[in-house]
Amino acid sequence: MPVKAELTGYLDSDYKIVLRDLRQEYQVRTKDGDGREAFVAIESFSLDVRGGEFVSIVGPSGCGKSTLLDILAGLSKATSGNIIIDGNEVTGPALDRGIVMQGYALFPWRTVRKNVEFGLEMKGLGPAERRDISTRYIELVNLSGFEDRYPHELSGGMKQRVAIARALAYDPAVLLMDEPFAAVDAQTRETLQDELMRIWEKTRKTIVFVTHSIDEAILLADRVVVMSPNPGRIRAVVDIELPRPRTNQDMRVSRDFAEVRQTVWENLQEEGASGVPEIFPGPRIPAAFAGKLAVADTRLAASS
Ligand code: ADP
Repeated sequence: MPVKAELTGYLDSDYKIVLRDLRQEYQVRTKDGDGREAFVAIESFSLDVRGGEFVSIVGPSGCGKSTLLDILAGLSKATSGNIIIDGNEVTGPALDRGIVMQGYALFPWRTVRKNVEFGLEMKGLGPAERRDISTRYIELVNLSGFEDRYPHELSGGMKQRVAIARALAYDPAVLLMDEPFAAVDAQTRETLQDELMRIWEKTRKTIVFVTHSIDEAILLADRVVVMSPNPGRIRAVVDIELPRPRTNQDMRVSRDFAEVRQTVWENLQEEGASGVPEIFPGPRIPAAFAGKLAVADTRLAASS
């Protein structure tokens, strides 16, 4: 679809994704329950993402992260604003965007190989080519030997690897990931993060990654977009200049990582933030203590 005249300037740039002034309103019931009113979930959201860039979006629950990713995926339509990918306005879902969500969303009746080949079938590729490509991506996510297993025969971490292979196999222009590792245990999560970084180094896909974990956001990204809620807006964009390749193990003892973590924390805690980001399991921590805990955590990370 042709893009609006005032946006054509961006077509010459090397930006893969251009988001301009996005706003998403939902119609919700009024407090008295009698009427309907507009609730603004996202407002004035503008961001440019370069080709091959890894951008994380972090913010407290309810700040509009999933809403944003749904709009980018074309699963819901923004109330106003523009989303341009590779010079084309996004008007609905398409194979130029691979999506990896929290709940794996694999087809239970298909084997690993058949799941990975799904997008290739949609693209109309023949069986031999599909087999070649699926073999390559199954290898990339370390699942060789499991091609004929069904999803119920796999662990959570393995299912998420299949979801990543399936999204990458049909070679989308961008990969959209919404809390993809939230459903797996902590150790598997670290393994999957390390694997995703290795895969990204190899494929250099443009990735937009939504998470509520500050550590995960920083570890993976070139830039971290910090959102604030009510309505969801960009509070800050933090450049992550930590050397690559990165691993969880290296970052745990990195003083620079601890410093960046503190910067992101401070941005999340700035005046006006409601609530505390859900990076602590268990009970929520009152905002007044959160900053102190962040400092303590940072010191811990730096000295360990
Ligand atoms: P996050 O992913 O950051 O947790 P969401 O994008 O899920 O946040 O939600 C942002 C805000 O929009 C929340 O306040 C949520 O309650 C509201 N919201 C999301 N979807 C709908 C909907 N379909 N109708 C009404 N409100 C919604």
